[in-house]
Amino acid sequence: MDLTRRIDEAAIPEVILCKFGEVVLKGANRQNFESALVKELRRRASPFGEFNIYFKQSTVYVEPRNEACDMDGMYAAAKRVFGIVGVNRAAVCEKNMDSIMEVAKKYLPSKLSRARTFKVDAKRSDKKFPLTSPEISREIGGVVLSSVRGIKVDVHEPDVTVTVEVRDDNAYIRAGQEKGAGGLPLRSAGRGLLLLSGGIDSPVAGCMMAKRGLEIEALHFESFPYTSERAKEKVMQLAQEMCEFCSKIHVHVISLTHIQEEIRDKCNEDYFTLILRIFMMRLATRCAKEYKCGALITGESLGQVASQTLKAIEVTDSATDIPVFRPCIGLDKEEIVREARHYGTFDTSILPFEDCCTVFTPRHPKTQPKLEEVLREVEKLDIEALMEEAYATMYTETKLIYEGYR
Ligand code: ATP
Ligand code: MG
Repeated sequence: MDLTRRIDEAAIPEVILCKFGEVVLKGANRQNFESALVKELRRRASPFGEFNIYFKQSTVYVEPRNEACDMDGMYAAAKRVFGIVGVNRAAVCEKNMDSIMEVAKKYLPSKLSRARTFKVDAKRSDKKFPLTSPEISREIGGVVLSSVRGIKVDVHEPDVTVTVEVRDDNAYIRAGQEKGAGGLPLRSAGRGLLLLSGGIDSPVAGCMMAKRGLEIEALHFESFPYTSERAKEKVMQLAQEMCEFCSKIHVHVISLTHIQEEIRDKCNEDYFTLILRIFMMRLATRCAKEYKCGALITGESLGQVASQTLKAIEVTDSATDIPVFRPCIGLDKEEIVREARHYGTFDTSILPFEDCCTVFTPRHPKTQPKLEEVLREVEKLDIEALMEEAYATMYTETKLIYEGYR
């Protein structure tokens, strides 16, 4: 093993550069997005050491303050922060060609050891730099060709693109760029209340809306003893897993037991699920208002089950006066599963536990319900009293990406 090279390489200061995505397009609001993103990165950074995190020239710099910083951990975390389209580690060098070439010689060989082809892309935001971008590219290309055995230039489809950026303060060298989580920074779009079941769809729906900038708060309905403690634990675990992307989720839990028993005893069986959904939406709306959430979020997908036909959704929507976001509405199961794997919730979602929606299910659920008929059934119950009683059962658990996240 070539120890000298490893030691040299380790001595090169590195930063993590995070490229903004859509955020750069946001005109006058741009500052809010930038500050939401920087704040979130700062919160996420704290288990990995002390970093300077700041925004400059449409990039967020994540700069370790000392050697104790865990750059691998920070890099992995940055990839899960919404609002960032590209993440890369870059070597920092002084802004002169000698230093850039020296650093390139030490830093790039290990990064390119598995590449067959490369190209160099040079960018100068400092136009006073003595070399032009093509000249920088040529010089660095020469360094790579002489220090990486067997590698060739391919300007059209290279295995790896080496980027040299000459910026106001320093020059930065990196090999390749990884995709970031995309979307808009968490909390830049307000707060939404996710109706979280133990299924595949609702955790995906929550993550998709977090990707559009919503801070996620969750509400789970249980129906003990018809649903078990373990079913609820599964939901809590899902919320915990969602924190990889959503950072922090308060999970409110409300018991529907008495409401479900009343529906079972007093209403027409064909409407059981729809009536239950009306109660769920009403309780969710009350919870959303109490916790300042501007929208409800569900994992519904058009036509997936009887309660998700166009007519059934009309019934559900009639029970709330705030917007309902259903990001899975146009996705099929395969697409939702792909998202669930991406967000890391799939394996937990498929654990076999019952949901309150699956107790007392009708044998012949209405797929084309008439709103007036459903409401006539609901009227058989003491709605206000049941709502009060159910809402009073609410308690809250908080899930965090790591202990201490604020
Ligand atoms: P999921 O896979 O998310 O469970 P699903 O296809 O099983 O969805 P339904 O059971 O009809 O669909 O539920 C539709 C949506 O209603 C869910 O995506 C979720 O947002 C909400 N929901 C269902 N059950 C509950 C529950 N027990 N607590 C909170 N929300 C729920
Ligand atoms: Mg479900």
